[in-house]
Amino acid sequence: MNAFSYVRPASIDDALRAARESGTFFIGGGTNLLDLTKSGVEQPDVLIDVNRLGMDRIEALPDGGLRIGASVRNSDAANDEQVRRRYPLLAQALLAGASVQLRNMATMAGNLMQRTRCHYFVDVGFEHCNKRKPGSGCAAREGHNRIHAILGASEQCVAVNPSDMSVALAALDASVRVRGRDGDRSIAFADFHRLPGDDARRDTNLAPGEMILAIDLPPRGFAANSHYEKLRDRASFAFALVSVAAALEIDGGKVHEARIALGGVAHKPWRAHQTERLLIGHALDTAAVNAAAKAAIADAKPLRDNAFKLELVQRAIVRALHTAGGLA
Ligand code: SF4
Repeated sequence: MNAFSYVRPASIDDALRAARESGTFFIGGGTNLLDLTKSGVEQPDVLIDVNRLGMDRIEALPDGGLRIGASVRNSDAANDEQVRRRYPLLAQALLAGASVQLRNMATMAGNLMQRTRCHYFVDVGFEHCNKRKPGSGCAAREGHNRIHAILGASEQCVAVNPSDMSVALAALDASVRVRGRDGDRSIAFADFHRLPGDDARRDTNLAPGEMILAIDLPPRGFAANSHYEKLRDRASFAFALVSVAAALEIDGGKVHEARIALGGVAHKPWRAHQTERLLIGHALDTAAVNAAAKAAIADAKPLRDNAFKLELVQRAIVRALHTAGGLA
């Protein structure tokens, strides 16, 4: 492990002043960052502790939405009365993630910043990883790729985003409030994480030195008809092979609005827009639900070991829609 300096600033502005263009990491719970640092995947020069900057509150927004501070622990958000009542999809996704101990420690911002999941990335013994060493190749493309992406991947990288929470936030159209040297800005959730394209190194569109302040939830939480479905190799403390966040507005027995986000299939939480469109105006009958589920994989490109995800995604969507619609 490399030597680094540790800074505990007294204010957000002090934290931003301490940040450098590169080599700076903000640390909350450290549940992902410390593992990656100990194994040599991440090599920070400066660790800035953001735990004492007043970002540990959940508060109402003037537009009727809810702001969850960056340092709020995953357990606290999942068990918050407002989150449970108004945004049960988010509470469910948070509780599906990791273990109780990890959720007690992990922060909301840290959950957003989890690095993508790939065995070859987290083991520095493997040489060929464009995400760690640009231009070195991608060992997963021809190696063991059962857990990897079927959508939105590139020649550069086929890793997947591991966060359950982020799949729910994608369906809810949340936004991420950040501050940098040029001031504050709000990033639509769809634009927060990125696909690998021709640069696999970065997982998000945060600018260097920018710090996450909070996650903003819009007023509508789809509390009446939503569900998070997670399919994994064992019942707890396992990442999703495939997951689905489904949020519906149902009027007169027909779908009025649909939001479907997928996890475990791409480098970022994946909105299934065509699936959403096909559901509008229909009852959740077998024909409509199956056709919508099928549309989600129209552009999928499975790798050698993960073609099973094509079927798994469709079945997960069907189950999520039935449960969200009260038909399960
Ligand atoms: Fe590295 Fe991405 Fe390839 Fe995994 S999938 S080996 S993270 S480049």
